[in-house]
Amino acid sequence: MTKAEGRPARVRFAPSPTGYLHIGGARAALFNYLLARQTGGQFILRIEDTDRKRYQPDSEQDLMESLRWLGLEWDEGPDKGGPVGPYRQSERAELYRRYAEELVERGHAYYCFCSPERLRRLREERRKQGLPPRYDGHCRNIPPEEAKRRVEAGEPHVIRFKAPREGEVIAHDLIRGPIRVANKDLDDFILLKSDGMPTYHLAVVVDDHLMGITHVLRGAEWLSTFPLHVHLYRAFGWEEPVWVHLSLFLKPSGKGKISKRDVAAFRKGHKSVLIRDLREFGYLPEAVNNWLALMGWSYDDRTEFFTMQDLIEKFSLERLKPSPAAVNFDKLDHFQGLHVRALPPEELARRLVPFFHKAGYTQVTEDDLRPIVPLIQTRIVTLDDAVRLAGFFFEDQVEPNPDELVPKGLTPEQALEVARRALAVLEALPDMKASTTEPALRALVDELGLKARHVFGLIRVAVTGQRVSPPLFETLELVGRDKVLERMRRAIALLEDKVQQSPASS
Ligand code: GLU
Repeated sequence: MTKAEGRPARVRFAPSPTGYLHIGGARAALFNYLLARQTGGQFILRIEDTDRKRYQPDSEQDLMESLRWLGLEWDEGPDKGGPVGPYRQSERAELYRRYAEELVERGHAYYCFCSPERLRRLREERRKQGLPPRYDGHCRNIPPEEAKRRVEAGEPHVIRFKAPREGEVIAHDLIRGPIRVANKDLDDFILLKSDGMPTYHLAVVVDDHLMGITHVLRGAEWLSTFPLHVHLYRAFGWEEPVWVHLSLFLKPSGKGKISKRDVAAFRKGHKSVLIRDLREFGYLPEAVNNWLALMGWSYDDRTEFFTMQDLIEKFSLERLKPSPAAVNFDKLDHFQGLHVRALPPEELARRLVPFFHKAGYTQVTEDDLRPIVPLIQTRIVTLDDAVRLAGFFFEDQVEPNPDELVPKGLTPEQALEVARRALAVLEALPDMKASTTEPALRALVDELGLKARHVFGLIRVAVTGQRVSPPLFETLELVGRDKVLERMRRAIALLEDKVQQSPASS
């Protein structure tokens, strides 16, 4: 009884605002988004905030910002409204009560007046017998008239589903096939809590129905309660959506689910399962989407580079894989490299600006970065790497470590001599163009009878302050004559000090 394929899909991403958006949620959002865009349907954002105890105030904003950063813009949602709002469950409380009462009237649900104390005792007894917690049906057969009277008199109550005692329920997951559960194993689960708020099970079914959702793509953690939802659809007499429970994410080792401790450990290594961190660490949304898409989905088992447009065209529900996927951060770096190199240089320059600003180079503009980008585009993984590699371009002075000015295999005296000769060569040149400096400095290498790395390494440290930099000659050109000469002189002074302080080596 699933809706026909091929017509515009109305899908939703329905996060609970209990924490920041992580890769599991982001991937569910991505797949829903792709299906909506591919079929010309709608992608809805619904905030499932009925669990007030786990509510985290700043997470709703994080969810929205992270989704937008990924480029997963929704068509309807709490901030933009839409024809079937409100899109925040806490603002729909009245509605859920109505539907829960409708189920009571149809004989599929009942009022339960059991005290928390009684329920606690019940749990305890079942635990002692080694049984899972389960309601014993104590209020199941209270005559409806009596129950109504007690509710009207203000007696505290919940509404429970009257799970059938016989037969079985067969729930169909598109990628997992039929899932059969014996009804006798189901609990009379709560639909409406004593505070009048719905449980997730009631709210999700009512909202997916009222919002006209055609496909539910969500995490595999909902598989176990999936048959309950199927029961609710049948009790209401509603048409079910197509159900897809996405693969579970495992630790990078492939052993077990990712724990809180893993999350903390990842962050120490500049890796993360939180989208806001990946953004801050300088990953591109294109790379994150590409990485996420291939965790639990594949196109042809060969193609690995996908833009959002490719994904919209090529995504298919049939190629979703139910088996768990181990999180692989090396793959993320791999995709990041591919997407960094695929960006037009001027676009990369634009994306780098905030990273330079954050590192304290607050005056840096896109125009400043444009000539640098070709030198670093193939040498960075995260956008943050660009600052480490090219920040020196924006320093008035650099402070080389005097030890690093002495290339391996040379004495400080020899290094000093190399620096003086290199300065002389550079001073004599009409400009710092790569095509001018390169032949002149190579000639110096030959003349000194040294290795290129001795001479170039020293100049690199002198001019950039670091041992790893973009290609030397292009770097000299961009740094410019005055600064290059000034930095070479400074390096000579540092080497002179060093020679004086270490007479042993003379
Ligand atoms: N609010 C649920 C969650 O955050 C949504 C599950 C679903 O998509 O049905 O996991």
